[in-house]
Amino acid sequence: MLALLVGVRFGAALQRSTAPRFRASRTVLRGESLTTGATAAIRAAGATKRREPLRMPARLSPTAASTFLDCEQLFLFRNLWRLPEPPSPALVRGSLAHSVLEHVWDAPREERTTDAMERDFRERWRRQRAGYLGGDPPLFETLDAEREWGLGSFALFANYVAFEDPSARDRGPAAVEEWCEGELAGAGVRVVGKLDRLDADDATGALTIVDYKTGAAPSSKSYLRNAADLEDRALFQLRIYAWMLERSGRPVESLRLLYLGGGAATPVDERVPAGADDRAAYFAGVEADLGAVWARLDALVEGGDPLAFASCDRKWCFCHVARPLALEADGGDEAADTAAAGGTHGNGNYSALTVADLKDRLRDRGLRVSGKKTDLVDRLVASDATLGAAAAP
Ligand SMILES: [Zn+2]
Repeated sequence: MLALLVGVRFGAALQRSTAPRFRASRTVLRGESLTTGATAAIRAAGATKRREPLRMPARLSPTAASTFLDCEQLFLFRNLWRLPEPPSPALVRGSLAHSVLEHVWDAPREERTTDAMERDFRERWRRQRAGYLGGDPPLFETLDAEREWGLGSFALFANYVAFEDPSARDRGPAAVEEWCEGELAGAGVRVVGKLDRLDADDATGALTIVDYKTGAAPSSKSYLRNAADLEDRALFQLRIYAWMLERSGRPVESLRLLYLGGGAATPVDERVPAGADDRAAYFAGVEADLGAVWARLDALVEGGDPLAFASCDRKWCFCHVARPLALEADGGDEAADTAAAGGTHGNGNYSALTVADLKDRLRDRGLRVSGKKTDLVDRLVASDATLGAAAAP
């Protein structure tokens, strides 16, 4: 009963999360990851990578293609440079929830319940918890934050079962977590990715690709002016899977994005055209889009300038955290530190202060005063972020 009540309260929090104001506070929360250790690791990795020539990846996944379209700079940091990106609660939730949704089909019908899914989630989290909580930064600062995150994750399963009861289905999906492969002729791009789920219609055998999203549907977030654009990019990933399956002789009839966050599960469906000509044009479009991604990436890599990778305007994106550290900073470069200290949080230009002043401020806040000047600045910025988060609604 208690869990239910808290769950309801958490549901209200989810509703609020669609308001622009919450987005603003997320920016600050994301900045919380700027502990001294994490910033030093990103800074060091960036310094190393900037000295190496850029190289094309050996292959492209549908997820990577979509990351590139969302934010070229994030693609650089995550896919090419593999910077040490601190895990976020949303990413860890997504990964655990996908595992639970994958394995729900292993159980006999009557055991495919929300209770069982919650148990499975809890068990998976219990096995990984120590690693995340002992990380730098820890995934959660407080037990309350961890608990709220857990309840929010349970809400995904309630939404899922309300939308599509897995215990009501006699047969499970045709495939879960299946690897697919394709080659883009001409460009010589190898595309490899793992799809969440492939359903076969009981009567006709027609195939549907199902992809779980653990966030809310972009279209339900009224403040997002580019919701249709975001949805289209998410569908782009599924079109790539459909293209790979088509090439391997398993034609797909439809695509489904299933958003499990927010107040209720929301499907976004797209039918792959059935007529031969329309179908050929549809997949030619997918190939053209993929080819365009590859060509743009190739031009950036060839150009050799990491600064040419465009950043995005999504405030929560890792690019805003990593850019001042990995791309613009150069050892103890003052300008970059200024950007890190003042640019991100608007909390004053710490780099302009003397080391003695910085130590005074740290002492005032009861924080450590050891380390180089950049460490002191980083510590103050991280402290600002934490204070900001605590003050946020
Ligand atoms: Zn970005």
